[in-house]
Amino acid sequence: MLMVIFMQKTNLKSLSKQELEAFIEELGLPAFRAKQILHWIYEKYAQSIQDITELSKDLREKLSEKAYISNLGLLDRQISKDGTEKFLFGLEDGETIESVLISDEDRLTLCISSQIGCAMRCRFCLTGKMGLKRNLDAHEIVDQIISANRIIKPRKITNIVFMGMGEPLANFDNVTNALWRITELMNISPKRITLSTSGIAPKILEFPKKAPMVNLAISLNATTDEVRDYIMPVNKTYPLKVLLEACRKFPLPTRRRITFEYVMLKGMNDTPEDAKRLVKLLKGIPSKVNLIPFNPYEGSEFKRPDDESVLRFQNILIEGQLTALIRKSKGQDISAACGQLKAKYSVIS
Ligand code: SAH
Ligand code: SF4
Repeated sequence: MLMVIFMQKTNLKSLSKQELEAFIEELGLPAFRAKQILHWIYEKYAQSIQDITELSKDLREKLSEKAYISNLGLLDRQISKDGTEKFLFGLEDGETIESVLISDEDRLTLCISSQIGCAMRCRFCLTGKMGLKRNLDAHEIVDQIISANRIIKPRKITNIVFMGMGEPLANFDNVTNALWRITELMNISPKRITLSTSGIAPKILEFPKKAPMVNLAISLNATTDEVRDYIMPVNKTYPLKVLLEACRKFPLPTRRRITFEYVMLKGMNDTPEDAKRLVKLLKGIPSKVNLIPFNPYEGSEFKRPDDESVLRFQNILIEGQLTALIRKSKGQDISAACGQLKAKYSVIS
């Protein structure tokens, strides 16, 4: 009987720099080949080994016997009236993820996902209602940027925010690995990257030891444990005091601030008393506050406050010496706004 043994090919995109160097050495190739391959994957967006024309045809063939380059498939692309674009990408196992491109002035920001769904179950967030399907691998996180860059050529992503689907600190290793690749291989400065978390306090402190010094954003969203427990279950494990203690200990580089996101929910967290408490809570933390009026969706239990109470809230923060901006969710007509990613394509449990 004829036995055919299938050898699994190595996905070059799934390897870190060090892993690729080891792989190239194992194949008996000189070390500079690894550098060339990295350049073609991360800066020239090669979609296959055949695309790497700097390598001879023979070498490309030899490499193709052992390896391949994975790609996200572009399944859908929508453009909002305000210019925000949403990409729906297909992964190798058939799952899908979304990334959102927001352009303002001289910045092109890509809002990327770190997980399929999210286990944190914040009450106001549509992604939270999906539960967690799975973590994204490091290369699936990075590939959102590579793919977007390829699509929007000759434009190039300048800023990255981890504010798509998922809780990045709950996918710690893959997110930190992705960050090394984004900063070292794609040359995007850590200053132009923001990681947003619902507040897994111990991970906030472990993070700067393991990852490049990106900006930190905290989804605070409440000023009392009672309200935060209700809207963000993570607060039951890491209450406000513990979370803010972690923020105080966070080794912020000079002149940098922590961003506090505050989704405003009518009658829940939008009173002048909340604003005053927020001023007190953030005392001593170099911070800026982004007020995000709730972005409603069908069946949501919360409502967006009227503009007047949002402005009143903002004024109290400003009087309390805080920097406070009102952020309107972009791309609402294409469900690209905060917390809405992918939900339209999924069955909501
Ligand atoms: N999981 C991370 C990052 C993704 S959520 C985190 O929670 O920080 C990105 C932001 O969208 C968070 O600040 C969250 O509070 C906000 N958000 C979620 N659903 C929203 C909604 N329906 N309207 C407005 N903001 C929302
Ligand atoms: Fe997850 Fe963030 Fe949504 Fe909470 S707000 S459910 S942490 S994605």
